[in-house]
Amino acid sequence: MTRPLPDVPVVDAHVHFFSPDFIAAYAALGKAQFPPDDAIGGLLRLMGWDMDFTDPVALATRWIREMDERQISRMMLVTSWLWDEESTARAVQTYPDRLSGYAMINPTQDIAETRIRRAVNELGLKGVTLFPAMHGFHVDAPEVYPVHEAIAQAKIPTFVHFGLLKIGIRDKLGLVSKFDLRLSNPLDLLPVAKDFPDTTFIIPHFGCGYFHEMLMVAAQCPNVCVDTSSSNSWIDLMPYSLTLKEVYKKTLAVLGPDRILFGSDSTAFPKGWRQEVFEAQAAILQDLGVSKEDLENIFGGNAIRIFKLAG
Ligand SMILES: [Zn+2]
Repeated sequence: MTRPLPDVPVVDAHVHFFSPDFIAAYAALGKAQFPPDDAIGGLLRLMGWDMDFTDPVALATRWIREMDERQISRMMLVTSWLWDEESTARAVQTYPDRLSGYAMINPTQDIAETRIRRAVNELGLKGVTLFPAMHGFHVDAPEVYPVHEAIAQAKIPTFVHFGLLKIGIRDKLGLVSKFDLRLSNPLDLLPVAKDFPDTTFIIPHFGCGYFHEMLMVAAQCPNVCVDTSSSNSWIDLMPYSLTLKEVYKKTLAVLGPDRILFGSDSTAFPKGWRQEVFEAQAAILQDLGVSKEDLENIFGGNAIRIFKLAG
């Protein structure tokens, strides 16, 4: 199977790792609707997934096969359940040349800083994800500063999810998600990005609905980047007409090509890697006349530099 831009090495900066512990956690949350002796099977059927639910390394191996088939050189795995960074670490440790990973941290927990240090120093993960709307904090609150300090000491990037937050598996299970979008404005990041100029902050999905706010922060803070992941359907919520091509054009103008990281937001099998996301974005960038060098940076070079990945 071939992809467009076959001579541009691709590092996907945003792929979810739906490990066995992730699957078991959601099977438990939805257990009332599944057979008592087969909640995991019930969940997999509901989601239409065929996933290994026993061994994170088997899932990692499946991703490696997928990467080989689609010609993807590396992936940054997003830990997708709060307590699950060990699963991601097992995948990364098994395939260190192909996989790297983020730990998901809730700064309102006392042990957040300890978990960051362990994730980096012992588990070898390369970034931290924060979800202010899900975990109920302002990213610039004084009580979150120790977390930013720990991240700065670890010299890793911080991914902060702003804007609309939809988690497909929660919706499918009928779980009520009281994510507080009032905590989801990228402008909250401005004082933090100024206080930690050596930390790179990554805002996924171009701000996921807060596009203008993302641009405002990024215009003021050179250490703020975006990832381009997903189909970016937040565009449909904008009160004015906007296309992904216009989003890219403006982002290139304000942030420049060195602060844009391609991501697919791939999640599960049998779907695997979301090649259609890549194809749409590659076509847009070619239409915009982006140079080969900038394409190489957006589709991989920036991630290698920012996460300090080996080649
Ligand atoms: Zn995602």
